[in-house]
Amino acid sequence: MYRWALYDREPSTTWRNGLVALLGDAAHPMLPFMAQGACQAIEDAAILGRCLEGAGPDRQSIARALATYEATRIERATRIQSGSYFNRIVFHYPDGEEQVARDAMFASDGWSTATDWVYGYDPLTAPLATRS
Ligand SMILES: Cc1cc2nc3c(=O)[nH]c(=O)nc-3n(C[C@H](O)[C@H](O)[C@H](O)COP(=O)(O)OP(=O)(O)OC[C@H]3O[C@@H](n4cnc5c(N)ncnc54)[C@H](O)[C@@H]3O)c2cc1C
Repeated sequence: MYRWALYDREPSTTWRNGLVALLGDAAHPMLPFMAQGACQAIEDAAILGRCLEGAGPDRQSIARALATYEATRIERATRIQSGSYFNRIVFHYPDGEEQVARDAMFASDGWSTATDWVYGYDPLTAPLATRS
């Protein structure tokens, strides 16, 4: 049996400095309770690629592309990071009233719709931020 610690961090307000930008766990380490860490890293990469696609080779263009990348991604990744943090409690309720209410919510028809914002996102077509 392997054991390892789960580390996370408060959401960051920026992922970039000059011509360097973070993505994936380096930008938004999260607990695994939405199963989204790697998914968010892949989404970051797809958006970053789109931002850099049209950028010129000069420093200003690259800095602008990184700013657009960050502005496009940070709100969504932070929301998922915070949701994963919240779920550390929700997923571990001991048997009882709260656990029964949670299970009923997960079993309800509304639950899949409530998570559409997580699974319905396509980084290949999502709009890029216009202001960064
Ligand atoms: C228990 C658990 C369950 C999870 N389940 C899911 C899941 O179901 N779905 C999901 O989407 N995500 C899941 N995740 C999260 C997912 O594993 C991470 O979010 C994802 O691996 C992050 O990818 P990354 O490329 O940002 O970082 P990493 O995967 O950490 O990659 C960073 C790489 O950089 C290398 N590196 C570090 N320093 C250096 C250096 N100085 N020079 C060169 N290389 C270096 C490291 O060795 C590593 O290979 C889970 C995580 C855990 C812990």
